[in-house]
Order: sequence, then structure tokens, then C-alpha cells
Amino acid sequence: MKDKNLRLDTRVTHSGRAPAEHFGMVNTPVYRASTILFPNLAALEAKEGAKLRYGRRGTPTTHALEDAICALEGSERTLVAPSGVSAISVVLMSYAEPGAHFLVTDSSYGPTRKFCEFTLRKFGIETTYYDPAIGAGIESLIRPETKLIWMESPGSQTFEVQDVAAITETARRHGIATAIDNTWSGGYFCQPIAQGADISLQAGTKYISGHSDVMLGTIACSAAVYDRLRETYLRFGICVSSDDAYLALRGLRTLGVRMNHHHASGIEVANWLLEQPEVLRVMHPALPQDPGHRMWKKYFTGASGLFGFVMKPVDHDALARMFDGFSLFGMGSSWGGFESLIVPSNPSVYRTATEWNPGGQTVRLHVGLEDPADLISELRMGFDRLRA
Ligand SMILES: *Cc1c(COP(=O)(O)O)cnc(C)c1O
Repeated sequence: MKDKNLRLDTRVTHSGRAPAEHFGMVNTPVYRASTILFPNLAALEAKEGAKLRYGRRGTPTTHALEDAICALEGSERTLVAPSGVSAISVVLMSYAEPGAHFLVTDSSYGPTRKFCEFTLRKFGIETTYYDPAIGAGIESLIRPETKLIWMESPGSQTFEVQDVAAITETARRHGIATAIDNTWSGGYFCQPIAQGADISLQAGTKYISGHSDVMLGTIACSAAVYDRLRETYLRFGICVSSDDAYLALRGLRTLGVRMNHHHASGIEVANWLLEQPEVLRVMHPALPQDPGHRMWKKYFTGASGLFGFVMKPVDHDALARMFDGFSLFGMGSSWGGFESLIVPSNPSVYRTATEWNPGGQTVRLHVGLEDPADLISELRMGFDRLRA
């Protein structure tokens, strides 16, 4: 990227493109490759230093995506992985060693926890889960063998916002690496590397791709930790197809307009939900009454379309009447696409450091790019069916 002083929307538009290198084409084309040929023996013998040497080690298309993510996240380096979960595993594995200790927020994404519990534990790595509201208090949990502090802000089920700078500053004093799952913001509303994190990763599956048709993970990081991450990445043979990298770049170009739309519509739907008699509480950090609002204002420039609410206790048949009648809100895993989604969730079952007893049914919404008035009228009809 030519100019780091350009503003975010301009960087997202121009990064990862080099038309002069590709016959003038606006977009870096899909380069499909396994073998890459060298012109002579000397070039073959010098391949260690070559930028392009074998398909698994990247193509111009995947490099373009890495450059674009660097511009988005404000990072020195980026690695791209075939899913958000693979990005998570690469980062966690990179700090794993016998006897190591990790600190992981209690609000973290389920598969992150599972990697710690099922994979890392087998190798003698211990994980302590901490209250997402801990802030600088994280210091009391640090041990001599603590190697990594993991954050996710806001938590993608329960939406607590973390005091990232307090945690990264504490970690730095102790020489501990910090990683944060930045999927919620799409990297557009928050750049955690500037807040002191060593690593900001995303499920690029979500907002970066934005169209519910790509699996992708992105690991943006400082130069200081890049070699360590890259070593794990190479050893596991992680790579992304150029077709998927191309689709992600295509999605990325409209990230700004999409995110601003998700922001405005999400707040409109959240405010409407606040007034419904069935709703006990809305978990959306951009709402002034949300407990994370002050932190959200400090660390984010906007809110994505993903948030939650808690309904008064309902019986399962009534919930099914409500959910089965939706046509604009789909039911399924993931989020961050152009379309709206709704799923019931039960965060109580996995929490260990904190309790999640909201007093009713937790629901997660993704507000897509539809007209919010249509989404609200669909939700209104859903509550009517619930009462029927
Ligand atoms: C979906 C998700 C992931 C995992 O992404 P995949 O691409 O589905 O593997 C990681 N973190 C968060 C917060 C997510 O919501």
C-alpha cells in the first residue's frame, strides 16, 4: 500500500491492487497454481528468497489479499487461512509449549475454547478463562508460564466489550503476547493492533467476504510475531485457494458501505426491540444503556449488525412458532453476510469464569442489508405468533 496516511475507506479501495502488473486489470486476477517454474538453475537454487515459489506458499492473488488486510487492520503483516477456526488454531498453536499457560476470555467463541480444552490440554497447556470485564485486573491471573492472552471484543454471543488497551499494556509489561478475535468489527470499526495487540484475527468468512459464500481466516500481526506464526502456518500446510482470496477481495471493496449500513440498521432494530414487552434486555454496545457502551465508544468507531437480546422465558413450542414463521431472517450458523439471521443461543452452558443467567431465552440477531422497516415488521409478526 502506497500511503499509510490515506483514510480507511481509501485504503480499503486501493490496497492489494496493482493494475500495471496485471495488464491493467483493476482487480488482481485469480492465479491458480501448485507448481511455479523457475527460468534457470540459479533462480531455482535461490528459491528460498523468492516471493513466489510454490502454490501452497501463496500466489499473487493471496498476496494481494494479505496486503489488503494489512491496510485494513493497520498491521505490518498478515497470514490468510482457510477458515476463521484455522486462523485461531494457528495462533494458539504458535504459543503452545509444554507447561505453557493461556488466559482466554470467558466470552470467547466456542471453537476457541474447544481447541484449548481438547487439543492444547492433551499437550500439557493449561487455560484459565477470565471475566471479559477484567481489564487491568488480568495481572492477578498472570503466572510465570503465561504465554498468551486471548481476547474477543465484543464477545460474539454475549457482547461484552473488553478494555483492550488495559490488557495489552499489562501483557506487554510481562512479556506476554496478546491476540484478539476482531471478527465482530470486520476490522472496519476497530483496529486492535493500534491498541497494543500483537495479533488481530478474523473469520474473514463473515464481514470481509460479506456474501455468505466463502470460508476464510485472516491473521493480522506485527512484524515481531510474524515469524513465529508463519512457522506454525507453514508446518501445518495452511493455505487459501486463489479463488477464495479473490472473492474475499471482491467483498472487501464494499466493506465500508456494508458496515455503515449494518451499523445504522442494527441500531434501529435494537432500539425497536428495547420497547417490546417480551424483551428483557438488548445486548448491543452502541446503545447508551448497554454496560459495554463506554468501552465501545473508546475502542470502536461503529457497530456491526450482530447483537443479542434476552426474551422472557418462553416454552419451546412458542419459540418454534415465532422462529419458524420468519422468511427474511434465516436460521443458520455464521453471520456477516448481506442477509439477516436469527438463532437462539445458550451461553450458560460453556461459561466457567462468569455466570450467564439472563432470566430468559437468549437470541442472537444478524441485521443484514434489507430495509430495517421490513425486518422490524417481520419481528413484530414473530412476537404476535409467540403470544398466539
Ligand atoms: C464464525 C466465527 C469464527 C470462525 O470462523 P469460521 O470461518 O466459521 O471458521 C471465529 N470467531 C468468531 C467470533 C466467529 O463468529
